[in-house]
Amino acid sequence: MDLLYKQTNLQDTLSDLDRAAIDPYCEGYKTFLDRGKTERLCVRYAIECAEAEGFRPYDPNAPLKPGDKIYADNRGRALTLAVIGEEPLSAGINIAAAHIDSPRLDLKPLPLFEDSELAYLKTHYYGGVRKYQWVAVPLALHGVVVTESGEVVEISIGDNPADPCLTISDLPPHLSKDQNKKTLAEGFTGEGLNALVGGKPLASDEENTKERIKLGVLTLLKDRYNITETDFLSAELMLTPAFPARDVGLDRNFIGGYGQDDRVCAWAALKALLDLDGAPKRTAVVILADKEEIGSEGVSGMQSGAFEHFIGDLCDAQGVKLNHCFANAFCLSMDVCNAFDPNYPEVSEKRNAARMNYGVAVMKYTGSRGKSGTSDASAEVVGRLRQVFGKADVVWQMGELGKVDQGGGGTVAAFMSRRNIDTIDAGVPVQSLHAPFEVAAKADCYMAYKAALAVFRGMA
Ligand code: MN
Ligand code: MN
Repeated sequence: MDLLYKQTNLQDTLSDLDRAAIDPYCEGYKTFLDRGKTERLCVRYAIECAEAEGFRPYDPNAPLKPGDKIYADNRGRALTLAVIGEEPLSAGINIAAAHIDSPRLDLKPLPLFEDSELAYLKTHYYGGVRKYQWVAVPLALHGVVVTESGEVVEISIGDNPADPCLTISDLPPHLSKDQNKKTLAEGFTGEGLNALVGGKPLASDEENTKERIKLGVLTLLKDRYNITETDFLSAELMLTPAFPARDVGLDRNFIGGYGQDDRVCAWAALKALLDLDGAPKRTAVVILADKEEIGSEGVSGMQSGAFEHFIGDLCDAQGVKLNHCFANAFCLSMDVCNAFDPNYPEVSEKRNAARMNYGVAVMKYTGSRGKSGTSDASAEVVGRLRQVFGKADVVWQMGELGKVDQGGGGTVAAFMSRRNIDTIDAGVPVQSLHAPFEVAAKADCYMAYKAALAVFRGMA
């Protein structure tokens, strides 16, 4: 019997079967990243993938039987999918929950202005953003504008290489003497994150020379989308990085791309559900949540009642009490964690930090300042998960967000445990978390998929 806990690099222990499965899995994942730059686009693509596998919109009036595949679209920004199990819902359900919103720059309600004959869009950052990372990079504009008549106009510019993109300027090193003296947090301000959107004046003979560049942009928007400046008031527009996900490393061991927090886990959970064949014992549920990066508030976040309304409807149809279902349920709260980074070893405690290529990282707790704000899974829950992962050959490791008192964060786990659902965090270790270009190891991405599959098939 081994007295010592040994961790091994995935690359040394992968079975031939798993090794062969990683690349095809990751190609599908990169497509998900490229198609899903925003939560709305993620929901749309997830539904497309789910319908191809036989999932149908949930219809409260249609009776369900084991093996049936359904989904509930929450306002186009969050999605819950389920495969009905053989056991009644009173036996509990197995949930994999991930979020599909990512840090980005939202446009303000009145974003467009002109200064020195240049037109800009003002932004209000969404989620934890290190502002200096968002300047001098190409940005895409995504979202919807809803006109007074109720028409929903979709805008998506910048991801196609043939499209124009937007960008936020930075100072040249030649002129950054004063800025260099500031701290990283002070050197770039939220109000300074204005994206360059135009420079051509409105071509007309009119005397209106005051805001002719801004008028030029508005004319273009009118011509292409039939919207006016007032329509910005009822819009959800956001700037995301304008480059695709790509392989990183000469050996292509990693994936780099925007929004891997938490679409790497969203894809793992979704793909595992789509790949379930036949009815699982317990009903399997995937939650693709919105608003995690700003505290899970809002109707599409995990603090909204949408989730219990959906599961409650399913319970009602079986004559089961929702609270009995939740009391026996299990939730794998799938979210990324920080991967140990040799460039910045000082923020991690090496013995308890998650490492790339060491498998899916289980986080017993998150939180900050003495675990504040975390749901802190019990030893019993960790024990159950160990057993399930062990049986399914899931390579996993235990992780911590960082060194004690270095910072911290939370996930949707706390909101699932509030529902009296046993919950634990697990996800992919990621470097440069929340940056426009985050990095994850392909083998870990694949192990997150195996972890979700193991829970759907084996958690009792
Ligand atoms: Mn996350
Ligand atoms: Mn995050």
